Amino acid sequence: MFYGAIKDCDIANGAGVRVSLFVSGCRNHCKGCFQPETWAFDYGQEFTSETEDEIISMMKPAYIRGLTVLGGDPFEPENQRALLPFIRRIRNEYPSKDIWMYSGYTFEELMGENPHCHLDITEDILGSIDVLIDGRFEEHLRDLSLQFRGSSNQRIINVSKSLTSGELILWSE
Ligand code: SF4
Repeated sequence: MFYGAIKDCDIANGAGVRVSLFVSGCRNHCKGCFQPETWAFDYGQEFTSETEDEIISMMKPAYIRGLTVLGGDPFEPENQRALLPFIRRIRNEYPSKDIWMYSGYTFEELMGENPHCHLDITEDILGSIDVLIDGRFEEHLRDLSLQFRGSSNQRIINVSKSLTSGELILWSE
């Protein structure tokens, strides 16, 4: 897996102050995507164990509320396989911090409606994170006033509550 950027004090992509990892590779190709350079799976630098260590270190301060993984699309199959062990490591190292992920695929697609992005490990990833912001960027639904999202079709989902209850529950602070 490759990544384009890591931000160590991000307040735009999730609640609180966060470390954000922008992974590379996306096949959604949404019209109006604000970073089409991240569609290429080899954009940026290779994600290595040193990269993991760097992120772990960035997350250490108490003011860092959690990690956000976005892209590109972290739920492209190649990226899911690379990210699952890393997400598990974050969970072990920082059990009280939260993990948010973004995907152009919807929660329903990830849960089985779309075999391209529903892998044998997809539910393991979803079961290890707190919040999923889902759905493709729809240019005609673009709304700059939305918190953490680009278009109004995208949802901020409380994944753990949704998986426990069996129905989709949106996140709220
Ligand atoms: S899912 Fe995100 S990165 Fe991929 S094309 Fe859509 S807006 Fe761009």
